[in-house]
Amino acid sequence: MRSVRYRSGTRARVDNIMTTTVIRAGNIWDGVAEAPLGPREILIEKGMVTGIGTSIRAPAGAEKIDLQDRMVMPGLIDCHVHITLRPEMVGTFWSHSGGYKALLGARALRDHLMNGFTTVRDCGDMDLHGYTVRDVKRAVEQGLITGSRLINSGHMLSARSGHMDATSVLSPDCKGWQNNLADGPLEIQSVVREEIKWGAEWIKFAASGGFASPADDPVDVGYSREEMESLVATATQYHRPVSAHLHGDDAVRMAVLAGVRSVEHGAMASKKTFQLIEEKGVFLIPTQYAGVRSARFADSEEFWESIGNNPYEKMKMRMYKDVLLENARNLAASRVKIAFGTDLGILPYSVNGALEFGEMVTNGISPLRALRAATSVAADMLMRPELGTLAQGNAADIIAVPGNPFEDITVMEKVNFVMKAGTVYKSG
Ligand SMILES: [Zn+2]
Repeated sequence: MRSVRYRSGTRARVDNIMTTTVIRAGNIWDGVAEAPLGPREILIEKGMVTGIGTSIRAPAGAEKIDLQDRMVMPGLIDCHVHITLRPEMVGTFWSHSGGYKALLGARALRDHLMNGFTTVRDCGDMDLHGYTVRDVKRAVEQGLITGSRLINSGHMLSARSGHMDATSVLSPDCKGWQNNLADGPLEIQSVVREEIKWGAEWIKFAASGGFASPADDPVDVGYSREEMESLVATATQYHRPVSAHLHGDDAVRMAVLAGVRSVEHGAMASKKTFQLIEEKGVFLIPTQYAGVRSARFADSEEFWESIGNNPYEKMKMRMYKDVLLENARNLAASRVKIAFGTDLGILPYSVNGALEFGEMVTNGISPLRALRAATSVAADMLMRPELGTLAQGNAADIIAVPGNPFEDITVMEKVNFVMKAGTVYKSG
């Protein structure tokens, strides 16, 4: 992977500068170790972890939090969500205002936080006429709303007629305008710069077709090599890493060779392509609860009813299910760096994103690899070393679960303590 200094965004905001806290944990896992480390005490000052040990001398007046019956770990990171999207909007993008999408985004960030995801990366603002994700991020940072820390990838750039050209739901008589459409190296450069102007910390683009969209196929390649290279070069000039929505094997190879940092989905990448991803040090976010799980249940009408019944996705999943199942087996056997992502937004927000852990384990990924994917590996991919691990000097993003996820991964769905930057948001 080429060596580029990316701008990694602002450091974790310190929300709670006054309180000094000591957490007594029955057991901790730090986001890295191969197994839980046993009982520990954690000292938190000014929103940061300032000490971890078997016995911490608490400063006078420190608040004590007793989590001796729980497993304590770093706040989780979901690297792929769409806070301004809901499944039922796929055919009706043009019918919703930016204001409505901002309200959806605010609600989504609250849900993420309460489920233990203290940081999320939005992977494509679905306000295709404004810049709503940036506004919601700002509202969290200003304390106007309660929610996860947000990393903003702006809009998903797409070729006209490509995966994120939502005008395909309009009549051909209607001329639609969207801020994410770009064809050819010059227009791509201009839209990348525009996204950066409006707050994109990553550049996201659709390099292949998709499943949930009406008019494209997951094996279609959305951009030429020249267009992909122009996009990555422009983003790199501005120190922004690139994330690509990819399914078909050809598109994955082309985007990896063009220099993307993260491959989203990669659901039809071959074994050989996984080797290339490994060699280049690229991160893969397999979004398996939204992907291979749908392949497994593709023939069940009841299943599709339960997740919003998107007719395009149902049809394409039935066509490609065997490829997806084989891809999941190959990924589990590979040494690709997996980061955690759910694609919530395409899935309804009634789904707890932590279900992705169980899905990964069902598909042969070890609990350790799945847990690191949502903590230390995610922070590595996002170039946010102050997140994703419990260590002195890091942000006090801390959660607890009622059990040991190395023995039962489903305890991740039962997060009952959430602290972000030293402030407690959930304590059950
Ligand atoms: Zn997505």
